[in-house]
Amino acid sequence: MKLTIKDTYNKELPEDPILENTPRQVSGACYSYVTPKKTTNPELIHVSPDMLAEIGLTLEDSKTAIFTETFTGNSLLPNTKPYAMCYGGHQFGNWAGQLGDGRAINLAEVEYQSKHWTLQLKGAGPTPYSRTADGLAVLRSSIREYLCSEAMHHLGVPTTRALSLSLTGDNVLRDILYNGNPAYEKGAVVCRVAPCFIRFGNFQIFAARQDIKNLKKLTDYTIRHFFSHLGAPSKAVYLQFFKEVMLRNLDMVIHWQRVGFVHGVMNTDNMSILGLTIDYGPYGWLEGYDAGWTPNTTDRQYKRYRFGNQADIVLWNLYQLANALYPLIEETQGLEAILEEYTDVYAQKYAAMMRSKLGLQTSNEKDIVLIHNLEENLQESETDMTIFFRNLSNFNSDKYNEGLQIVWDAFYNTDEITETIKQKWNSWFKNYAERVKQEKVAPKERKEKMNLVNPKYVLRNYIAQLAIEAAEKGDYLLIDALFKLLKNPYKEQIENKKWFAKRPDWARDKVGCSMLSCSS
Ligand code: AMP
Ligand code: MG
Repeated sequence: MKLTIKDTYNKELPEDPILENTPRQVSGACYSYVTPKKTTNPELIHVSPDMLAEIGLTLEDSKTAIFTETFTGNSLLPNTKPYAMCYGGHQFGNWAGQLGDGRAINLAEVEYQSKHWTLQLKGAGPTPYSRTADGLAVLRSSIREYLCSEAMHHLGVPTTRALSLSLTGDNVLRDILYNGNPAYEKGAVVCRVAPCFIRFGNFQIFAARQDIKNLKKLTDYTIRHFFSHLGAPSKAVYLQFFKEVMLRNLDMVIHWQRVGFVHGVMNTDNMSILGLTIDYGPYGWLEGYDAGWTPNTTDRQYKRYRFGNQADIVLWNLYQLANALYPLIEETQGLEAILEEYTDVYAQKYAAMMRSKLGLQTSNEKDIVLIHNLEENLQESETDMTIFFRNLSNFNSDKYNEGLQIVWDAFYNTDEITETIKQKWNSWFKNYAERVKQEKVAPKERKEKMNLVNPKYVLRNYIAQLAIEAAEKGDYLLIDALFKLLKNPYKEQIENKKWFAKRPDWARDKVGCSMLSCSS
């Protein structure tokens, strides 16, 4: 197994001089060196062939004992020094102080074919940032992260990736619903991969501690390695950097809205500086289209991170990042101007995204109303988002009164579709038909284009749960089948059409399907 190691983060940025691995405050440092915990009986469950190839490894490499030992933390790559990063963050709107990689350990950075990647183990044991927790991860949450991050990539959503999923052979105690019922579960480790794992919180922690020297070091490092096209750091470049971070995160959240992904915990420590979807925890996929939905039971009361609020939260988080970068720029005007741009740019890009979902290639000022009315109709009665948009590509604008029939499968409770609701839909289909006709695009072409942005297969909450329940009994076939299915989410895959189906009734209120906690 040969990797080209190109460490930069732990070579160029200040380290924590204390090597003791106990929970503590770490100041004046970007990271702490830490050795992953030895596991009892590591076993590789699955590996991503794409990610293997990206970092320059082969399937043969992944079958070796050293691969499993390395990607569960039992064996270190030659000439590397694993470390946990120091960051802070706002959790559910409140400043939480130091958080840091409590159960993530960066193994090394590698380079292959001019691409730069950081390899990080999630669940490989405690670090100085573990606070009161154990630094471990359980199988169910590791499967969810492993499958979903690769699925998101194939959907075209910016995301961290995953290389491997392994069991540790150790048991981990978790109280899934935080209701005093702890139980042992199988421990697991995911090796996740991204150019870097720097978060908004990495900048925030230095700003909060008024450690401007290290704030500047980290910002300059980030620009030098990941935004080098902006040129040498200066006040003007810091602003351009902030603008690009704004645009990247904006694009990310538009993709989430396009595919119906709800992150669930958009705390500032879970916001990537590269605009990648990061930290797959109690996330979920919209089944019934509902702007008010969040899968995260911890957020049940205020629903801060609900589907319809995600774009506003990105902006809120960007305000926190602007505050953190302010000491480097020392004037608010430029930062404020960028933050003010967000709302308009979002509105434009959101409309463009929704037009693409509707198969509209030109823009018309009336589209905003068409989109708004569609969103209202979708909420009238529980309507499966994925099935609705996928089936909409069969719409025939000459037969708009057949529209409702075309999307009928998307309704969860057809008894609820009253005459009033039918009328609303018929009127919407009539307007949609008129709009489609303005474009003079062949139906076949429109359908093809729509099917490139409206996925047929997403990792529905209950489907992930089926894979988890099988895996907990030692059967990993469904993990592999889903992994392959989700590699081509826009293709018809007739042989897999059983996964193009509404959530079954048993999954409606089941833990792990529509209800998830942060316990992982
Ligand atoms: P999250 O919002 O779930 O991404 O995590 C918030 C913070 O808690 C981060 O600093 C994590 O590293 C830390 N954390 C979450 N779970 C654990 C765990 N089992 N052991 C140690 N730290 C954890
Ligand atoms: Mg996190």
